[in-house]
Amino acid sequence: MLVNLVEILKMAEEKKCAIGAFNTPNLECVNAVLAAAEELKVPVILMHAQIHEEFSPLETIGPVLVQSAKSAKVPVCAHLDHCEDLGYMAKALEIGFTGVMYDGSTLPYGENLANTKKAVAMAKKYNCGVEAELGALASREGGTANAAGPVYTDPDEAAAFCEETGIDALAPSFGTAHGIYKARPVLDLNRVKLISEKTGLPLVMHGGSGVSIEDYRTGIANGLRKINYYSYMSKAGTNAVKERLEKEDVTFFHDLALAAERAMRLDAVKAMRIFAGL
Ligand SMILES: [Zn+2]
Repeated sequence: MLVNLVEILKMAEEKKCAIGAFNTPNLECVNAVLAAAEELKVPVILMHAQIHEEFSPLETIGPVLVQSAKSAKVPVCAHLDHCEDLGYMAKALEIGFTGVMYDGSTLPYGENLANTKKAVAMAKKYNCGVEAELGALASREGGTANAAGPVYTDPDEAAAFCEETGIDALAPSFGTAHGIYKARPVLDLNRVKLISEKTGLPLVMHGGSGVSIEDYRTGIANGLRKINYYSYMSKAGTNAVKERLEKEDVTFFHDLALAAERAMRLDAVKAMRIFAGL
């Protein structure tokens, strides 16, 4: 069942839990994530990140996400992740995405604010929810280092930003990073609580894979309602393929794809259990 970002985050708020949001750049990821959500009977967010465009074009994968969401047995939001260009967002809205993240975090505050307002005006016409980012993570989506380093989100600035833009969810910066962690991340979860209190909006954790169970739980208690998770699930798929190839001489690629899908499903189930508090 296709639902929009606002509706799915409301479900999370009612249960004081977080919804897992997974990048799904290919069919194996889509199948793995949906099977995991249906197994646990929890709502889920499927995401297409603009950075994956080069190997997974929006015009191809977008309709797959929307159609898969419609035929799923659980509530699913089809969400555009880290969109840095409003023209690209317009295409996703036409395809039928029900959530979009406008990411102006690399821009000066005023420009981020102005573009986020435009994104909200565009998305409203399609009954689509909007997430935006304020502050900057230590690394960009895809794992490359952020030139300016991390900039933690200021709670008062966040309150003003949310009020003025009319967004539905905020991704603050509080110590997480995209990609695979080289050292255990140190998170400022108290900042999450303050931002949650000052904005009154559902908050989003980016760089959500590789965080300790304890930090997930505290973060959720402090107001995180959407947790973006991809790198560790994808790595689980890669590891399964490596193991399979070490054991036998595989001819067909579909056998490897299936091995990856199964491993990613197991990893997604583990993550969803924590996010849902199961
Ligand atoms: Zn992200």
